[in-house]
Amino acid sequence: MTYIYDGVELEERTCPHCNEALSPWIAPPESGWGIIVVCNNNECPHFAGSDKEIINKRDDSNLGCRYAENPDNKYSSFNLLAWCK
Ligand SMILES: [Zn+2]
Repeated sequence: MTYIYDGVELEERTCPHCNEALSPWIAPPESGWGIIVVCNNNECPHFAGSDKEIINKRDDSNLGCRYAENPDNKYSSFNLLAWCK
């Protein structure tokens, strides 16, 4: 299944860690990405367990890694550094 977001055709993808649907997100221009799809589930085990894996992370920085895929690169997965709320 595919859908159109901001004029771009995207596959309906789900997070392999929590099975939530991935949400499209327009990346900042400086990132070099176009539209990416991201797991926005704060309960996602990938996101919840990521805070200990960030090298040089400060305890008060509240950074985590969300699961994301890049449609421009055959939906290859990567870690999107994001703020924990
Ligand atoms: Zn997830």
